Amino acid sequence: MSDNTIYDVVIIGGGIAGLTAALHLSKNNYNVCLIEKNTYPNHKVCGEYVSNEVLEYLAYLEIYPFKCGATTITQFELSTKKGKLLSARLPLGGFGISRYALDNLLFQKAKDNITTVFDTVATINATTEEGIAMLQNGMTIKGKIMVGAHGKRSIIDKSLQRNFILRKSHWLGIKAHYEYDFPENKVALHTFDGGYCGLSKTETGAVNACYLVRYQSFKKIGNIDCFQKEVLSANPHLKTFFTNAKPIFKEPKVISQISFEEKQPVDHHVFMIGDSAGLIHPLCGNGIAMAIHSAKLFVDTYLEHRKNGSLDFIELEETYTKKWNTTFQKRLIAGRRIQRLFLSSTFTENLLTIGKIFPFLIPQIIKKTHGNPISI
Ligand SMILES: Cc1cc2nc3c(=O)[nH]c(=O)nc-3n(C[C@H](O)[C@H](O)[C@H](O)COP(=O)(O)OP(=O)(O)OC[C@H]3O[C@@H](n4cnc5c(N)ncnc54)[C@H](O)[C@@H]3O)c2cc1C
Repeated sequence: MSDNTIYDVVIIGGGIAGLTAALHLSKNNYNVCLIEKNTYPNHKVCGEYVSNEVLEYLAYLEIYPFKCGATTITQFELSTKKGKLLSARLPLGGFGISRYALDNLLFQKAKDNITTVFDTVATINATTEEGIAMLQNGMTIKGKIMVGAHGKRSIIDKSLQRNFILRKSHWLGIKAHYEYDFPENKVALHTFDGGYCGLSKTETGAVNACYLVRYQSFKKIGNIDCFQKEVLSANPHLKTFFTNAKPIFKEPKVISQISFEEKQPVDHHVFMIGDSAGLIHPLCGNGIAMAIHSAKLFVDTYLEHRKNGSLDFIELEETYTKKWNTTFQKRLIAGRRIQRLFLSSTFTENLLTIGKIFPFLIPQIIKKTHGNPISI
């Protein structure tokens, strides 16, 4: 079976990046098809802290997170494995909202003006003339432009034989919501052996606890409950949290094989946005903002190239690649370096000591992994 329409743009993946691009393109009257394997709303493994740099652009798309209860976050707290604590003001600040709510907010806004297909894309075949997405149910969907918004890791990356997918990744992400008394205006990052755990409040009042850990470290214990009791709780702040917080989810959500390797913003004539183009280390709390920003970057570049009527595909590929690298590459490199340093106990201990003497340093480090507010 196949849909005979040839869409202006086919977007594969309806997470933050895919939905943002779909909304922006449909606002400009383009014929968009979005293909998503899951239904809405659903929970995703994510720290659920969003940098304020996206607020103005979201308002342009008529998305208002605070209207559905997002919390205003202005303070950052960091602790070493032994529990030494440092607080700092977030230079730009952000907000707390669950992915359950945020993705759904975007989808509800987009759905009436786009075609949405709920299935898994098995392969994409794209040329400079046309692209075809082959779904697992055998259906094919055609577009003039194919956009990969399929996140960190997908069967699509395997079918395209993207370089990063050939190498194993050793990171695991675990997340759950809890009832717990926690300040609304704070995002906390507590380090432990082999990883770090973020805590922040969401729009429901629940506290999201999300941690990233090396698989080798987790494997030694192999069970989430015991791992939280034995390894995370060696940090006294996490001990207090996991002893007193009441889980809301039946079971935590887990994802594995999280890769932070370099990717290409255009691969096999598919325009990549969000994590499909590159994932920043979660401790930076900037992945959602980058996903939104990269969607805008792609749409803006596409609209510019369509202005003259005909579209020079190769030129579009080159311009988008260049713009993507200029906008995000430095941030990704800074994120990689900071994460490497963060996992060393000596570094975090020293950082806390220095940060207490020179408090302006911490906001400076945070700025390195964030962008300026996205202009319309
Ligand atoms: C542990 C952890 C904590 C994080 N914490 C934060 C944080 O606090 N703040 C922050 O800003 N960022 C954070 N991030 C990063 C953030 O989650 C991502 O950068 C963001 O989700 C990227 O959005 P996306 O749209 O690119 O991908 P996603 O949101 O993952 O969306 C991809 C979509 O594609 C769909 N899909 C995949 N394959 C297919 C297919 N074959 N066919 C159809 N659909 C498909 C998926 O179902 C999904 O809906 C964190 C990441 C991790 C791993």
